[in-house]
This record gives sequence, C-alpha cells and structure tokens, in this order.
Amino acid sequence: MSDDERCEEYLFKIVIIGDSAVGKSNLLTRYARNEFNPNSKATIGVEFQTQSMLIDNKEVKAQIWDTAGQERFRAVTSAYYRGAVGALVVYDITRTSTFENVGRWLDELNTHSDTTVAKMLIGNKCDLESIRAVSVEEGKSLAESQGLFFMETSALDSTNVSTAFEMVIRDIYSNIS
Ligand code: GDP
Ligand code: MG
Repeated sequence: MSDDERCEEYLFKIVIIGDSAVGKSNLLTRYARNEFNPNSKATIGVEFQTQSMLIDNKEVKAQIWDTAGQERFRAVTSAYYRGAVGALVVYDITRTSTFENVGRWLDELNTHSDTTVAKMLIGNKCDLESIRAVSVEEGKSLAESQGLFFMETSALDSTNVSTAFEMVIRDIYSNIS
C-alpha cells in the first residue's frame, strides 16, 4: 500500500430525521456508544457523534447529527442539513402518524440538500411487535416508491442498528470512489 492510500481519509456527514420520540437519539447512542437511554431527554444538546469504519482499508468517518429536539417545533434549521451526504429517516412502527409524516421529512431533506444524499427509511422499535401499527410491507413499499433503502431496527435490543448505519456509509463511499 502506498503512503497516499494509507493517508486517505473520508468524512461523511449523516443526519437523522423524523418525528419526535421515534428513537433517533437512541439509534445514534446505540451505534456510536452502544448505549440506550429509556429517558428520552437524556441526549438533548448533543450535536453529533463521530464513528469510524474501515472500507477498502481506508478509514471512513461518519459524523452523525442528531437533532436537539427541534423537530418537536418543526424547527430543524438548514444548518442541520447543510453538507449532509446521508440521511436516516426514522418512524416508529407503533405510531402510524410518524409513518405518515415521512413524506414531509423527505420533502424537507430534498429542499435543503444540493447533492445526492444516500437515504434509508428506518422503522424503529421493532422489538414492540405486539403493538405494531405499521406493517413491514408498508415500510418496504414506501421505501421502494421513493428509492430509499429500508430496514426495521430496535435501538433497545440493537437489531439492525449497525447494519443500517453501515449500509448508508458504504453507499456514500461507493458513490464517490
Ligand atoms: P427521539 O426524540 O426521536 O430522539 O427519540 P428518543 O431516542 O429520545 O426515544 C424516545 C423514546 O422511545 C424513549 O423513551 C426511548 O427509550 C424509546 N425508544 C427509542 N428507541 C426504542 C426502541 O427501539 N424500542 C423501544 N421499545 N423503545 C425505544
Ligand atoms: Mg432526540
């Protein structure tokens, strides 16, 4: 491996969006720190966390942004979206309204982004199967119609959390290399 190759480094900004209380902050803390906070207020104030992975022997850093609760007031700023090359659009499989609002979040994302953004639709809280309100099929077909990746996750029991983030990171990487 040449020095050039070894020193090559990538930094991708990824944003997490979706209605309040769908589990955005917990998906991030599960991925970046392997932690889960039952108290939803615990992560207010965190701007972003950085997580690295190796792809093709290169260090790829994902700078993953979490809202500090602004989504409650529909006040996520353009600074939040600026420079993002990846996005996780999250809903809660137990609350239909959060699924119905996915379109709005996608509109907002498209309005604020000027480059190609790798997008994944996430149905979170799949551990709560007994009170599921949105079927896997509904999630899948929305994702297909919008050209998004799709995955159900649980920040509580870790199901698919790393897989989801890593799929987005790999997709961004493959689009630029
Ligand atoms: P945010 O507002 O989208 O950032 O959502 P939070 O991460 O703060 O989570 C909101 C609430 O849902 C908290 O009480 C979490 O403990 C809970 N929660 C988040 N993810 C999951 C999950 O995968 N499964 C279950 N059962 N609860 C979750
Ligand atoms: Mg949050």
